[in-house]
Amino acid sequence: AAATPDKVYKVGVDNTYPPFEFTKDGQLVGIDVDLINAIAKDQGFKINIEQMDFSGIIPAMQAGMLDVGMGGMSITDKRKETVDFSEPYFAAGVSLVVANDNKNIASLDDLSGKKVVVKNGTVGASFADKNTEEYGYSIIQVSDSASMFQEVTNGTADALMEDYPVISYAIATGGLKLQTVGERLTGDNYGISVLKDKNDELLKMINDGLANLKENGEYDKIIDAYLD
Ligand code: GLN
Repeated sequence: AAATPDKVYKVGVDNTYPPFEFTKDGQLVGIDVDLINAIAKDQGFKINIEQMDFSGIIPAMQAGMLDVGMGGMSITDKRKETVDFSEPYFAAGVSLVVANDNKNIASLDDLSGKKVVVKNGTVGASFADKNTEEYGYSIIQVSDSASMFQEVTNGTADALMEDYPVISYAIATGGLKLQTVGERLTGDNYGISVLKDKNDELLKMINDGLANLKENGEYDKIIDAYLD
């Protein structure tokens, strides 16, 4: 669809995924939120941000209910079958996480017979699925990160898989009794997504805006506002 001055693009983000999107003093804030607002301002288009379960974002785009998908969304080949991604805007990857007093699990090799909790529709969940036989763990699925952290802190699950920028931020700011262990399980980059082959003009505005923000220092300001 062509950009028109009164068109309001609907942006879907995760329901809560600090530091990328979360509510603070009643306001939706975070790196994704600031970034898409700054891009929209730079490129002169209007947006409306909606929060939802992460696994619902791409289906909502496919159903025509959203124009843009974010939410610390990793660029993957699988997703590229249904969406087009912007240039990468943040380097991430999945870490294995256990309770901070757990001395038995130091890597995937220690997961035999254990319960691993993952969040529906994420890169962490597909990594867990692919490797369940090799490492012999069982999988518990939840729909948001807070529940995933809870399952491990209360002992219902032994380990979880979460993007390292997110788990590090949660441990540092939320005082969660969790720790990351072992090697990083994946390396990936976050991108801003639009429905495949249908939004070339919007994608170009997003990429142009992102490039401008990187050049004029605004991008660094946004990142520094949330991360040291
Ligand atoms: N980066 C991960 C993914 O894209 C997790 C995103 C999330 O949980 N919001 O699957």
